[in-house]
Amino acid sequence: MLDLAIIGGGPAGLTAGLYATRGGLNSVVMFEMGMPGGQITQSSEIENYPGVFRQEPHLTGMELMEPWPKQCMHFGLKHEMNEVKSVSKSADIFKITLGNGDIKEAKSVVVCTGSTPKRAGFRGEDEFFGKGVSTCATCDGFFYKDKEVAVLGGGDTALEEALYLANICSKVYVIHRRDKFRAAPPTVQRAKNNPKIEFVLNANIDEVYGSNMGVDGVKVEQDRNILDLKVPGIFVFVGNDVRNGVLKSDDSFICDVNEQGQIVVNLKMHTSLDGLFAAGDLRIDAPKQVVSAAGDGAIAGMEAINYVQEKFND
Ligand code: FAD
Ligand code: NAP
Repeated sequence: MLDLAIIGGGPAGLTAGLYATRGGLNSVVMFEMGMPGGQITQSSEIENYPGVFRQEPHLTGMELMEPWPKQCMHFGLKHEMNEVKSVSKSADIFKITLGNGDIKEAKSVVVCTGSTPKRAGFRGEDEFFGKGVSTCATCDGFFYKDKEVAVLGGGDTALEEALYLANICSKVYVIHRRDKFRAAPPTVQRAKNNPKIEFVLNANIDEVYGSNMGVDGVKVEQDRNILDLKVPGIFVFVGNDVRNGVLKSDDSFICDVNEQGQIVVNLKMHTSLDGLFAAGDLRIDAPKQVVSAAGDGAIAGMEAINYVQEKFND
């Protein structure tokens, strides 16, 4: 039986593995369905992970994450490239059902399966993702300093991020498919008062276009006309999908989640189910940054050690 099963091998899962193994747990397996590293490996540039900075060419997400698995494996973490289908608990033992049908038993579980920003579905979105199309203003906004950008969406995230981008960029077009907003009225008002923000309402993105150098512009359909906005950056904020599927059992969850499906944790990353911890993008109030996901993972790894030692007298 495993001391700890970690589900997901992004920054949170890898750091949980590092702390749990280095802190004394012997049998720790990280189930990651792809290569370890997580969603940051899709990013062509990262410059806000403290202590690791390169100006030209920028450090890529892949380069940032490359040494992490090696460091974890050095202290005994094992990686199994397998998708986890579900987690259940009975008589203090967790059962982890894998995609290939195998079942593993574990004394404790850290779930770190992350989240995925929803895609809007316009032409060019996938092709230019990470090369001008972004879902993270904190990460990528600075690359468009003093340039014009576009934001898609009418929720709190879209308008808050538009305000953030307006501090950096020369102009921010907010493209929204209606003229009513889901965002809180004070946020809408702040955006409307900002001279750098221009709303393009009742409008949909038809396509983002460019070359292998990146995005050149976005074609927007409004009142049967096509507007051509020559922006090098387009930020898509049309909601997030938390990857919580492994914690689902029939129609409910094995621990508490909020109405967006985010896993409810306390400051020690404990979920409502004893021995189950959650870390990174899938938890409530996640800042959705590598540094915070890694911080969560460290806490969850240390808490898993305490739990296993106290519960099983190991
Ligand atoms: P993830 O990184 O999402 O990792 C989850 C892992 O779990 C994935 O590897 C996935 O394959 C695996 N997984 C999911 N389900 C299963 C399953 N059922 N079984 C097995 N494995 C599973 N943050 C910054 O701090 N700075 C930036 O500049 C920055 N830029 C970004 C640019 C882009 C394009 C994107 C997409 C994100 C960016 N972020 C940035 C955000 C950052 O990547 C995330 O906040 C961070 O990766 C979250 O880490 P995590 O470990 O919680 O989840
Ligand atoms: P959201 O509230 O679901 O808003 C998504 C927006 O994207 C909506 O305006 C929606 O349009 C639009 N949209 C969805 N699919 C689209 C598509 N395919 N093409 C074009 N537009 C599309 O998501 P969110 O803004 O990320 O917020 C998620 C939750 O977190 C919300 O509950 C929000 O209140 C909360 N949140 C709170 C704060 C805060 O309290 N400060 C900050 C951020 C987020 P429609 O409106 O037409 O559906």
